[in-house]
Amino acid sequence: MIESKPKESTTEEVVAELRRRESFVFVSHVKPDGDTLGAGLALGLALRAMGKRVNYFQQDPVPRNLRFLPDADRVARELPADLPADALWVFCDMSDTSRAGEFLPALERRNILDIDHHLANSRFGAFNYVLETECSTGTCVLHLLRAMNAPITPEIATCLLTTIMTDTGGFMHSNTTGEVLQTSAELIALGANKEEITEKIFANKRFAAIRLLGAALDTARLEEDGKFCWTVVDEAMLAKFGADGEDTEEIIQHLRSVEGVDVAAVFKDYDGDVRVSLRGNGRVNVQTAAGRLGGGGHHRASGLTFVGPVPAAIEAVRAAIRAEGL
Ligand code: 5GP
Ligand code: MN
Repeated sequence: MIESKPKESTTEEVVAELRRRESFVFVSHVKPDGDTLGAGLALGLALRAMGKRVNYFQQDPVPRNLRFLPDADRVARELPADLPADALWVFCDMSDTSRAGEFLPALERRNILDIDHHLANSRFGAFNYVLETECSTGTCVLHLLRAMNAPITPEIATCLLTTIMTDTGGFMHSNTTGEVLQTSAELIALGANKEEITEKIFANKRFAAIRLLGAALDTARLEEDGKFCWTVVDEAMLAKFGADGEDTEEIIQHLRSVEGVDVAAVFKDYDGDVRVSLRGNGRVNVQTAAGRLGGGGHHRASGLTFVGPVPAAIEAVRAAIRAEGL
Protein backbone atom coordinates (compact mmCIF):
# COMPACT_ATOMS: atom_id res chain seq x y z
CA MET A 1 0.00 0.00 0.00
CA ILE A 2 1.36 3.43 -0.92
CA GLU A 3 0.88 5.86 1.94
CA SER A 4 0.85 9.58 1.35
CA LYS A 5 3.21 11.65 3.48
CA PRO A 6 1.92 13.59 6.45
CA LYS A 7 1.61 17.29 5.78
CA GLU A 8 -0.09 20.40 7.00
CA SER A 9 -3.33 21.01 5.16
CA THR A 10 -4.76 24.41 4.41
CA THR A 11 -8.34 25.30 5.30
CA GLU A 12 -9.19 25.15 1.57
CA GLU A 13 -7.69 21.66 1.17
CA VAL A 14 -9.63 20.31 4.14
CA VAL A 15 -12.86 21.92 2.94
CA ALA A 16 -12.36 20.40 -0.53
CA GLU A 17 -11.88 16.97 1.02
CA LEU A 18 -14.96 17.36 3.24
CA ARG A 19 -16.98 18.26 0.15
CA ARG A 20 -15.51 15.39 -1.91
CA ARG A 21 -16.25 12.59 0.56
CA GLU A 22 -19.72 11.21 1.09
CA SER A 23 -19.20 9.29 4.32
CA PHE A 24 -17.48 10.20 7.59
CA VAL A 25 -16.54 8.61 10.87
CA PHE A 26 -15.75 10.98 13.72
CA VAL A 27 -13.33 9.62 16.28
CA SER A 28 -12.99 10.99 19.80
CA HIS A 29 -10.31 10.14 22.33
CA VAL A 30 -10.55 7.80 25.32
CA LYS A 31 -11.93 9.47 28.45
CA PRO A 32 -13.74 11.86 26.13
CA ASP A 33 -14.11 15.51 27.09
CA GLY A 34 -16.30 18.30 25.77
CA ASP A 35 -13.74 19.29 23.15
CA THR A 36 -13.10 15.95 21.42
CA LEU A 37 -16.83 15.20 21.44
CA GLY A 38 -18.22 18.68 20.78
CA ALA A 39 -15.86 19.29 17.85
CA GLY A 40 -16.86 16.05 16.12
CA LEU A 41 -20.57 16.49 16.81
CA ALA A 42 -20.49 20.06 15.44
CA LEU A 43 -18.80 19.12 12.17
CA GLY A 44 -20.90 15.96 11.92
CA LEU A 45 -24.13 17.94 12.30
CA ALA A 46 -23.03 20.32 9.55
CA LEU A 47 -22.08 17.49 7.18
CA ARG A 48 -25.35 15.67 7.86
CA ALA A 49 -27.22 18.83 6.97
CA MET A 50 -25.32 18.69 3.64
CA GLY A 51 -26.72 15.19 3.06
CA LYS A 52 -23.54 13.30 4.00
CA ARG A 53 -23.44 10.07 5.96
CA VAL A 54 -21.95 10.50 9.45
CA ASN A 55 -21.00 7.96 12.10
CA TYR A 56 -19.26 8.37 15.42
CA PHE A 57 -16.66 6.06 16.92
CA GLN A 58 -15.70 6.42 20.56
CA GLN A 59 -14.26 3.65 22.70
CA ASP A 60 -15.62 4.91 26.02
CA PRO A 61 -19.24 5.79 26.77
CA VAL A 62 -20.26 9.44 26.61
CA PRO A 63 -19.62 10.90 30.10
CA ARG A 64 -22.77 11.68 32.06
CA ASN A 65 -22.22 15.44 31.92
CA LEU A 66 -21.95 15.48 28.11
CA ARG A 67 -25.02 13.43 27.26
CA PHE A 68 -27.05 16.60 26.70
CA LEU A 69 -25.03 17.42 23.58
CA PRO A 70 -27.01 17.22 20.33
CA ASP A 71 -26.49 13.82 18.64
CA ALA A 72 -24.51 12.45 21.62
CA ASP A 73 -26.79 9.39 21.52
CA ARG A 74 -25.39 8.52 18.09
CA VAL A 75 -21.88 8.01 19.50
CA ALA A 76 -20.87 4.36 19.94
CA ARG A 77 -18.04 1.85 19.90
CA GLU A 78 -19.84 -0.22 17.24
CA LEU A 79 -19.85 0.82 13.60
CA PRO A 80 -22.25 -0.28 10.87
CA ALA A 81 -21.12 -3.26 8.76
CA ASP A 82 -21.82 -1.42 5.49
CA LEU A 83 -19.42 1.45 6.17
CA PRO A 84 -18.00 2.58 2.77
CA ALA A 85 -14.27 1.85 2.26
CA ASP A 86 -13.64 5.48 1.33
CA ALA A 87 -15.18 6.95 4.47
CA LEU A 88 -13.05 9.77 5.88
CA TRP A 89 -12.08 9.15 9.50
CA VAL A 90 -11.93 12.49 11.29
CA PHE A 91 -9.92 12.44 14.52
CA CYS A 92 -10.70 15.37 16.80
CA ASP A 93 -8.49 16.62 19.62
CA MET A 94 -5.75 14.01 19.77
CA SER A 95 -2.05 14.07 19.05
CA ASP A 96 -1.90 10.41 18.01
CA THR A 97 -4.26 7.63 16.90
CA SER A 98 -3.32 5.65 20.02
CA ARG A 99 -5.43 8.16 22.01
CA ALA A 100 -8.50 6.68 20.31
CA GLY A 101 -8.00 3.42 22.20
CA GLU A 102 -7.42 -0.19 21.33
CA PHE A 103 -10.71 -0.85 19.53
CA LEU A 104 -9.90 1.42 16.61
CA PRO A 105 -9.80 -0.62 13.37
CA ALA A 106 -6.69 -0.50 11.14
CA LEU A 107 -6.95 2.51 8.83
CA GLU A 108 -5.18 3.75 5.73
CA ARG A 109 -3.59 7.14 6.12
CA ARG A 110 -5.32 8.42 2.97
CA ASN A 111 -8.62 8.09 4.86
CA ILE A 112 -7.52 10.08 7.91
CA LEU A 113 -8.17 13.74 8.71
CA ASP A 114 -6.51 14.95 11.91
CA ILE A 115 -8.10 18.10 13.43
CA ASP A 116 -6.37 19.27 16.57
CA HIS A 117 -4.87 22.11 18.61
CA HIS A 118 -2.32 20.16 20.68
CA LEU A 119 1.36 20.98 20.71
CA ALA A 120 3.38 18.03 19.42
CA ASN A 121 0.58 16.56 17.30
CA SER A 122 2.22 13.78 15.29
CA ARG A 123 0.49 14.69 11.98
CA PHE A 124 -0.83 11.16 11.56
CA GLY A 125 -3.36 11.92 8.83
CA ALA A 126 -3.17 12.40 5.08
CA PHE A 127 -4.83 15.68 6.04
CA ASN A 128 -3.63 17.46 9.16
CA TYR A 129 -5.45 20.56 10.30
CA VAL A 130 -3.52 21.41 13.43
CA LEU A 131 -3.89 24.96 14.73
CA GLU A 132 -1.78 25.14 17.87
CA THR A 133 -2.88 28.63 18.83
CA GLU A 134 -6.59 27.74 18.94
CA CYS A 135 -8.15 27.34 22.39
CA SER A 136 -10.03 24.20 21.36
CA THR A 137 -10.39 21.73 18.53
CA GLY A 138 -13.92 23.09 18.24
CA THR A 139 -12.66 26.50 17.13
CA CYS A 140 -10.55 24.75 14.46
CA VAL A 141 -13.82 23.20 13.27
CA LEU A 142 -15.46 26.63 13.33
CA HIS A 143 -12.84 27.90 10.84
CA LEU A 144 -13.77 25.00 8.53
CA LEU A 145 -17.51 25.63 8.89
CA ARG A 146 -17.07 29.30 8.06
CA ALA A 147 -14.91 28.49 5.04
CA MET A 148 -17.63 26.08 3.86
CA ASN A 149 -20.35 28.67 4.45
CA ALA A 150 -22.14 26.01 6.47
CA PRO A 151 -25.15 27.30 8.41
CA ILE A 152 -24.35 27.32 12.13
CA THR A 153 -27.50 26.10 13.84
CA PRO A 154 -28.16 26.55 17.56
CA GLU A 155 -27.24 22.85 18.00
CA ILE A 156 -23.88 23.31 16.26
CA ALA A 157 -23.27 26.53 18.22
CA THR A 158 -23.94 24.69 21.49
CA CYS A 159 -21.43 21.96 20.56
CA LEU A 160 -18.80 24.56 19.67
CA LEU A 161 -19.33 26.68 22.78
CA THR A 162 -19.00 23.48 24.80
CA THR A 163 -15.55 22.88 23.28
CA ILE A 164 -14.49 26.39 24.25
CA MET A 165 -15.92 26.29 27.76
CA THR A 166 -14.38 22.86 28.38
CA ASP A 167 -10.89 23.74 27.21
CA THR A 168 -10.79 27.20 28.79
CA GLY A 169 -12.09 25.84 32.10
CA GLY A 170 -15.19 28.00 31.83
CA PHE A 171 -13.23 31.01 30.47
CA MET A 172 -10.68 30.80 33.31
CA HIS A 173 -7.52 29.44 31.66
CA SER A 174 -4.85 31.55 30.00
CA ASN A 175 -6.05 30.49 26.54
CA THR A 176 -9.15 32.68 27.07
CA THR A 177 -8.17 35.49 24.71
CA GLY A 178 -10.32 38.40 23.61
CA GLU A 179 -10.86 36.58 20.33
CA VAL A 180 -12.13 33.52 22.22
CA LEU A 181 -14.63 35.68 24.11
CA GLN A 182 -15.69 37.32 20.85
CA THR A 183 -16.19 33.94 19.18
CA SER A 184 -18.16 32.77 22.21
CA ALA A 185 -20.40 35.85 22.00
CA GLU A 186 -21.03 35.07 18.33
CA LEU A 187 -21.94 31.48 19.16
CA ILE A 188 -24.37 32.66 21.84
CA ALA A 189 -25.92 35.06 19.31
CA LEU A 190 -26.34 32.06 17.00
CA GLY A 191 -28.28 30.24 19.71
CA ALA A 192 -25.69 28.35 21.75
CA ASN A 193 -27.26 27.43 25.05
CA LYS A 194 -24.68 28.73 27.53
CA GLU A 195 -26.97 28.22 30.52
CA GLU A 196 -27.37 24.55 29.73
CA ILE A 197 -23.63 24.06 29.18
CA THR A 198 -22.82 25.73 32.51
CA GLU A 199 -25.49 23.76 34.34
CA LYS A 200 -24.77 20.35 32.81
CA ILE A 201 -20.97 20.48 32.73
CA PHE A 202 -20.00 22.65 35.68
CA ALA A 203 -22.86 22.41 38.16
CA ASN A 204 -24.09 18.87 37.89
CA LYS A 205 -21.81 16.90 40.23
CA ARG A 206 -22.90 13.68 41.80
CA PHE A 207 -22.86 13.68 45.61
CA ALA A 208 -20.36 10.81 45.38
CA ALA A 209 -18.00 13.09 43.44
CA ILE A 210 -18.16 15.79 46.12
CA ARG A 211 -17.44 13.29 48.91
CA LEU A 212 -14.58 11.79 46.87
CA LEU A 213 -13.22 15.31 46.34
CA GLY A 214 -13.22 15.81 50.11
CA ALA A 215 -11.26 12.61 50.69
CA ALA A 216 -8.77 13.34 47.91
CA LEU A 217 -8.13 16.85 49.25
CA ASP A 218 -7.81 15.55 52.81
CA THR A 219 -4.97 13.23 51.79
CA ALA A 220 -3.25 15.69 49.40
CA ARG A 221 0.46 16.38 49.90
CA LEU A 222 2.36 19.63 49.40
CA GLU A 223 6.04 19.15 48.58
CA GLU A 224 9.06 20.70 46.84
CA ASP A 225 8.89 23.90 48.92
CA GLY A 226 5.15 24.15 48.34
CA LYS A 227 5.44 24.05 44.56
CA PHE A 228 4.15 20.52 43.93
CA CYS A 229 0.73 19.44 45.21
CA TRP A 230 -0.51 15.92 44.55
CA THR A 231 -2.95 13.29 45.65
CA VAL A 232 -3.87 9.69 44.88
CA VAL A 233 -7.30 8.27 44.06
CA ASP A 234 -7.48 4.51 44.28
CA GLU A 235 -10.02 1.73 43.92
CA ALA A 236 -10.86 1.71 47.65
CA MET A 237 -11.69 5.44 47.66
CA LEU A 238 -13.99 5.06 44.65
CA ALA A 239 -15.70 2.08 46.30
CA LYS A 240 -16.14 3.90 49.61
CA PHE A 241 -18.23 6.65 48.00
CA GLY A 242 -19.74 4.71 45.11
CA ALA A 243 -17.80 6.97 42.74
CA ASP A 244 -16.20 6.23 39.38
CA GLY A 245 -13.50 7.72 37.15
CA GLU A 246 -15.79 10.49 35.89
CA ASP A 247 -16.14 11.72 39.46
CA THR A 248 -12.40 12.44 39.73
CA GLU A 249 -12.23 15.22 37.12
CA GLU A 250 -12.56 18.24 39.40
CA ILE A 251 -9.98 17.28 42.01
CA ILE A 252 -6.93 18.59 40.20
CA GLN A 253 -8.13 22.17 39.80
CA HIS A 254 -8.30 22.54 43.58
CA LEU A 255 -4.72 21.31 44.00
CA ARG A 256 -3.61 23.74 41.28
CA SER A 257 -5.36 26.62 43.04
CA VAL A 258 -3.24 26.33 46.19
CA GLU A 259 -1.05 29.43 46.59
CA GLY A 260 2.53 28.91 45.44
CA VAL A 261 1.82 25.67 43.59
CA ASP A 262 3.48 25.43 40.17
CA VAL A 263 2.43 21.86 39.37
CA ALA A 264 -0.50 19.76 40.57
CA ALA A 265 -0.88 16.04 39.96
CA VAL A 266 -3.57 13.44 40.53
CA PHE A 267 -2.51 9.78 40.41
CA LYS A 268 -5.48 7.61 39.43
CA ASP A 269 -4.86 4.04 40.46
CA TYR A 270 -7.95 2.05 39.52
CA ASP A 271 -7.96 0.85 35.90
CA GLY A 272 -4.85 -1.32 35.92
CA ASP A 273 -2.18 1.22 34.98
CA VAL A 274 -1.78 4.53 36.82
CA ARG A 275 -3.34 7.46 34.96
CA VAL A 276 -1.68 10.75 35.83
CA SER A 277 -3.23 14.18 35.33
CA LEU A 278 -0.92 17.21 35.48
CA ARG A 279 -1.76 20.92 35.66
CA GLY A 280 0.65 23.84 35.78
CA ASN A 281 0.46 27.59 36.21
CA GLY A 282 2.69 28.22 33.21
CA ARG A 283 6.04 28.37 35.03
CA VAL A 284 6.75 24.67 34.49
CA ASN A 285 5.80 23.15 31.14
CA VAL A 286 3.70 20.12 32.06
CA GLN A 287 3.34 19.09 28.41
CA THR A 288 7.06 18.42 28.04
CA ALA A 289 7.14 16.94 31.54
CA ALA A 290 4.41 14.44 30.54
CA GLY A 291 6.26 13.89 27.25
CA ARG A 292 9.28 12.58 29.18
CA LEU A 293 7.02 9.78 30.41
CA GLY A 294 5.23 9.00 27.16
CA GLY A 295 2.27 11.36 27.64
CA GLY A 296 1.45 14.79 26.29
CA GLY A 297 -1.09 17.57 26.17
CA HIS A 298 -0.72 21.30 26.59
CA HIS A 299 1.69 23.68 28.33
CA ARG A 300 -0.57 23.93 31.41
CA ALA A 301 -2.61 20.69 31.20
CA SER A 302 -1.28 17.27 30.36
CA GLY A 303 -1.58 13.61 31.18
CA LEU A 304 0.11 10.26 30.88
CA THR A 305 -0.25 6.59 31.67
CA PHE A 306 2.37 5.07 33.98
CA VAL A 307 2.96 1.34 33.97
CA GLY A 308 4.03 0.43 37.49
CA PRO A 309 3.08 1.07 41.11
CA VAL A 310 1.91 4.47 42.40
CA PRO A 311 5.08 5.31 44.43
CA ALA A 312 7.15 4.79 41.28
CA ALA A 313 4.73 6.99 39.32
CA ILE A 314 5.07 9.76 41.92
CA GLU A 315 8.87 9.59 41.79
CA ALA A 316 8.89 9.56 37.98
CA VAL A 317 6.62 12.61 37.80
CA ARG A 318 8.67 14.41 40.46
CA ALA A 319 11.83 13.79 38.43
CA ALA A 320 10.14 14.92 35.20
CA ILE A 321 8.87 18.22 36.61
CA ARG A 322 12.22 18.89 38.31
CA ALA A 323 13.89 18.36 34.94
CA GLU A 324 11.46 20.95 33.52
CA GLY A 325 12.59 23.48 36.10
CA LEU A 326 10.33 23.05 39.16
P1 5GP B 1 -6.53 14.91 31.70
O1 5GP B 1 -5.76 15.27 32.91
O2 5GP B 1 -7.82 15.66 31.61
O3 5GP B 1 -6.70 13.43 31.54
O4 5GP B 1 -5.66 15.36 30.47
C1 5GP B 1 -5.30 16.70 30.26
C2 5GP B 1 -4.84 16.88 28.83
O5 5GP B 1 -3.62 16.16 28.64
C3 5GP B 1 -5.81 16.29 27.82
O6 5GP B 1 -6.65 17.28 27.34
C4 5GP B 1 -4.92 15.81 26.73
O7 5GP B 1 -4.65 16.86 25.89
C5 5GP B 1 -3.62 15.46 27.42
N1 5GP B 1 -3.40 14.04 27.71
C6 5GP B 1 -3.90 13.34 28.76
N2 5GP B 1 -3.45 12.08 28.75
C7 5GP B 1 -2.63 11.97 27.69
C8 5GP B 1 -1.84 10.88 27.15
O8 5GP B 1 -1.82 9.77 27.68
N3 5GP B 1 -1.13 11.16 26.04
C9 5GP B 1 -1.15 12.38 25.44
N4 5GP B 1 -0.42 12.56 24.33
N5 5GP B 1 -1.86 13.41 25.92
C10 5GP B 1 -2.59 13.22 27.02
MN1 MN C 1 -8.87 20.08 23.33
